[in-house]
Order: sequence, then structure tokens, then C-alpha cells
Amino acid sequence: MSYKNFPMVPRIIFGRGSFNQLNEILTPKRLNINAPFIYLVDDVFKNNSWLTSRIQLSYNDKIIFISSKEEPKTSQVDALVEEIILENKERPSGVIGIGGGTLLDLAKAVSIMLTNEGEAKDYQGWDLVKNAAIYHVGIPTISGTGAEVSRTTVLTGPHKKLGINSDFTPFDQVILDSELTDNVPKDQWFYTGMDCYIHCVESLDGTYLNAFSESYGDMALELCKEIFLGDDLTKVEAQEKLMMASWHGGMSIVYSQVGVAHAMSYGLSYLLGTKHGIGNCIVFNHLEEFYPEGVKLFKEMKLKHDIELPEGICANLTDEEFNAMIDISFSLEPLWENALGKNWKKIITREKLRALYQKM
Ligand code: NAD
Ligand code: ZN
Repeated sequence: MSYKNFPMVPRIIFGRGSFNQLNEILTPKRLNINAPFIYLVDDVFKNNSWLTSRIQLSYNDKIIFISSKEEPKTSQVDALVEEIILENKERPSGVIGIGGGTLLDLAKAVSIMLTNEGEAKDYQGWDLVKNAAIYHVGIPTISGTGAEVSRTTVLTGPHKKLGINSDFTPFDQVILDSELTDNVPKDQWFYTGMDCYIHCVESLDGTYLNAFSESYGDMALELCKEIFLGDDLTKVEAQEKLMMASWHGGMSIVYSQVGVAHAMSYGLSYLLGTKHGIGNCIVFNHLEEFYPEGVKLFKEMKLKHDIELPEGICANLTDEEFNAMIDISFSLEPLWENALGKNWKKIITREKLRALYQKM
């Protein structure tokens, strides 16, 4: 098939307080009393009874609190799947991810690996998943990644950082309740919000652009400008708009691709563990050559919100380390092709990429 036939999230609830409907949504999905619902929740909510008291546990349902200090790993997914299988007589009725991109991606990956043999690393790539995943629900508590809508779950494996991209990856249900984002720290709000902004710029400036992606990208970009450069929004309006910007930014890349910032920040993340949002910001700050308008606006936003980015993170790297980063970055060929066209290898060389990393 020359045109890709992508699935979309089939069910979504939007609205402040909609998280209260979670139990109503899940109850009809319970397969039987031996098939629990497993909640993967960011451990930032561990002592937050406001959130946890809204989750009604029955039978063998379980909340597993997970730290998002590090981004999801294939080995972490395998360990979670093993724990869930060993503790239960039957496969779960559903997996519910509550948190940022880290927890959403973990929920997607665990729900896939509960029904597919082998290890998560075997499925990093495009369309390698054979069996439909367990019913899975995504509930973002911070906005920007678009992980709530995307067809991938980004994992760091033993050899690569790459998503499990498949028709079975998207959530069966998403709940967008902006109230859950109330306590996001300001710096993190900016970094993850900029992930969305960068998705838009990379999609809209890419060679893969088409009317489908453009319409979502334009909408998300306008929302980002309103949120990060405007002065007229109330806190609630800004939160709700960022949720929708994240959604549209994610939709925009479904039918196109991201670009230079993502290709480079995956390298940083693989080698140095730099997290996605801040890593994208560190990289994008130096990409005037590729995205002049986008970087100019980014700098205005950074100034307006008084955000300081780390500097010199590549200052003491060895040749071997630079090479590892460059290898990871160049392995993401579709991203480079989208950004620079079919002849991208002539435009961006290893030396040039290294010189860019050295600025960071
Ligand atoms: P994150 O999930 O790591 O969360 C960032 C920080 O915010 C964490 O410290 C977390 O505890 C905190 N946090 C989240 N919600 C909070 C709240 N309501 N109150 C207080 N603190 C809160 O970060 P992220 O930027 O959302 O996600 C990054 C991850 O998403 C990366 O692993 C990246 O690879 C992935 N990602 C996936 C996709 C996709 O399409 N699947 C797209 C982009 C990024
Ligand atoms: Zn991103």
C-alpha cells in the first residue's frame, strides 16, 4: 500500500474533572475478576491522595508507581511485564498510564509486550508487533509530547533508542483532564511544551509535509504562540490549550516526521541520559541554520519565561563518545530525510554534526 493507513485513538474524553469518570469507563472493560486493571502512575503522585483516591481498586487491581527520572527502557518494560504475569492468574483487563510521556510510553509498551512473545527490544522499529495489545488507556498529567496520540512508544534498548511503531501502539482510550497538570513545575512545563512546539516546526518545515500534517501543525503552532508568547490566557485556558496543542502536534507528525532537533537529541539522550524535553531545547537553541524562524521564536519564548538552559554538556566528551552520539543520530534516517531532503547525507556530514554537538 503506497499510502499509509494509520489508526487513530478511537475514544477520548476532554474536560476539567473528566478524570473522575475513569472508573465508569473501565468497569465495562473488566474481563473477569482474575484479570486486573494495572495502573502505571508517575511516582510524583505517590503521596497525592487527591489523584490516587480517584482510582477505585477492585479484586487484584494494582497501582505501580514508577519514577520518570530516567526515560523508559526495554529492560524496564520486560521486568514490568514479568511482574504482572507472575502476580496474576490471567492477563490484565487493561493497562492505564498516568503521567508524562515516560509513563504513557511505558503503558503502551507493557500493553504490547503482554501479548507478544520475546523481549521489548525485538520490537523496536516499524510494524514488528504481531498481536493486538491489551486494552490501554493514556492519561497525561503534563502536556507536550503528543505521546497520548502517537503510534509509537519510544524506548531505550541495549543498542538503540527507537520506538515500537505499530498499529497496536495507540491508546484505546485517552482522558484529557487539564486539572491533572496543575502542579507541573515551570521549567518542566516549558521543556515539555517546547517538545510540542518543536514537533510543529520540524513537521511544518519538513520535506514530508502534506495538507494533513500541515493542518494539525498550523493549529498546534498557533496555540503554542498564544500560550508561550501571549498575555491574555487564564491559567486554566493555558493548560487546556497546551493539552490540545500537544494532541495536534502529535497528529501532525503521525503523517510526517520530526527533524534535526529530534535526531540530535536522541543522541544526547542515548549517551548522556539527557531527557527528551530539555534535550530538544538544548539542541534547538543551536539550529538557526535549519530553522531560522522557529529558533528565533523559541529564543523569545525562553526569554519571556526566564528559562536558562544548561551549557557545555558536550565539553568533555571523547572522540569515541562523539562518534556514538553521531551514529545514533544518523541512524534516524527518516528524520534527516524529512528535514533536509533525499540528499541529506551531502548536507550534514559527521564533522558538521560533531561541530554542532560541540556548541552544546
Ligand atoms: P516525563 O514524563 O519524564 O515527565 C517530566 C517530569 O514532570 C517528571 O519529573 C514528572 O514526574 C513530572 N510531572 C509530570 N506530571 C506532573 C504533574 N502533574 N505535577 C508535577 N510533576 C509532574 O516527561 P515528558 O516530557 O512528558 O515525556 C518525555 C518522554 O516522552 C521521553 O521518554 C520521550 O522519549 C517520550 N516521548 C514520546 C513520544 C511518543 O510519541 N511516544 C513523543 C515525544 C516524547
Ligand atoms: Zn518530541
